[in-house]
Amino acid sequence: MITRTESRWQTEDWQKAMKNMIRDVRSLYQAVNLNPEDLPAELSSRLDFPVRVPQNFVQRMQKGNALDPLLLQVLPQTAEMQDIAGFSTDPLAEAEFNMAPGLIHKYHGRVLLISNPSCSVHCRYCFRRHFPYQENTPGSQHWHKAMDYIANNKEIHEVILSGGDPLAANDDYLQQLIDKIAQIKHVKTLRIHTRQPVVMPERITNELLAVLTSSRLKTVMVIHSNHAQELQGDTVEALQLLQAHGIRLLNQSVFLKGINDTVQAQKSLLESLYTLNIQAYYLHVLDKVQGAGHFFCKDEDTKEIYAKLVTLLPGYMLPRLVREYPHAASKTAIDIIKAV
Ligand code: SF4
Repeated sequence: MITRTESRWQTEDWQKAMKNMIRDVRSLYQAVNLNPEDLPAELSSRLDFPVRVPQNFVQRMQKGNALDPLLLQVLPQTAEMQDIAGFSTDPLAEAEFNMAPGLIHKYHGRVLLISNPSCSVHCRYCFRRHFPYQENTPGSQHWHKAMDYIANNKEIHEVILSGGDPLAANDDYLQQLIDKIAQIKHVKTLRIHTRQPVVMPERITNELLAVLTSSRLKTVMVIHSNHAQELQGDTVEALQLLQAHGIRLLNQSVFLKGINDTVQAQKSLLESLYTLNIQAYYLHVLDKVQGAGHFFCKDEDTKEIYAKLVTLLPGYMLPRLVREYPHAASKTAIDIIKAV
């Protein structure tokens, strides 16, 4: 466990990391010692969701392994270009719950703010890969409609910063947004969904830690790690810094074919999370977003693996296996009884 509370990363470090991200598939292949000539030509020319991968994340990929589980999360595949029945551009019907620009209100007591349109990584399975960000990014001066909505709904006690990735925004913007939320007295909790500590740990600077701890709100961070191999190197330090500043860490992951669809991969992830004092919260089945069909695992296989995990690990290490239905009032737990 980290004992000091000062980060070694400065604002310039993460801005440099943002600038140096890999942004094309050939460079990504070269960075992991694979031959770009092996890539199908259409991957360079027909992508509707561009490549974005931080160098720090690449460092944790196994070089020369085209099936590395971190690489596969960010590597475009020609399979993305196929239309698959049942897969859509808005699998969770979020447009129907878009109550104000940038605000989605779906579940009782909490609202989600699309606080930043961009991410430091483009995960190929992302359910928001087709989200209309241009209509839903109010900018620092234009959050009043969303704030009025929250202020007028007294049952809202939690605001969730999502995106894109909230921590891909700059500190001044985040500070202004958090200050606005903290002014609404009935909001008690700020939840931040982010992949930044996992893919770009340089983002956890002293300045960011000061922003995150500046308000009266209880701050919870959900880190979205899908594989134990992600929870190594600088990421461990970044996570420990957040915890040392009183930020509670949770994880939710997605069950992804070819990446973590084995008992061993899931078990290793949960053991790593436990070692790092991060609560495994949800294990999601894939939302059926167009372009991500190749990550989809059959329900029977998912249930079988989860049922095995239940026998191998204590209950406190297990996330809830859930599916999100567009119009349900909460996530829906998946019944594994038939698989046992
Ligand atoms: S970081 Fe999250 S929002 Fe961004 S591409 Fe990945 S899954 Fe999607």
